[in-house]
Amino acid sequence: MRESSARRDTSRAERFLARERASALARIESLRRQLAAIGDDSTWTGADDEHDPEGATLAYERAQLQGLLADARRELDELDRAVSRWREGTYGVCERCGKDIAWQRLEALPAATTCIKCASSRH
Ligand SMILES: [Zn+2]
Repeated sequence: MRESSARRDTSRAERFLARERASALARIESLRRQLAAIGDDSTWTGADDEHDPEGATLAYERAQLQGLLADARRELDELDRAVSRWREGTYGVCERCGKDIAWQRLEALPAATTCIKCASSRH
């Protein structure tokens, strides 16, 4: 039996995208809470970095969290575009060759816009 594609099984694709968006949102929320817990830049002058090891650690931790937060926001953005494609009926369709993108690939990369073949022959 052939596996269904995201193009044909739109309700599965919808549930899948909703779940991915919810988890991206939850990650953003959690990162924002962690950032708030260590204080944001506005309360930190950075002047005592050298004399305050804890301050330097916090600054490092904050930079890490901000990086993760930026990643999570970018991912949410891509998922939003994936949802738009879903509305247009083109989610799960390779934008290069027009064939279905395998579920396996979408599960690893929910916002993928090309099939594995096109993605690996990009260069
Ligand atoms: Zn393709």
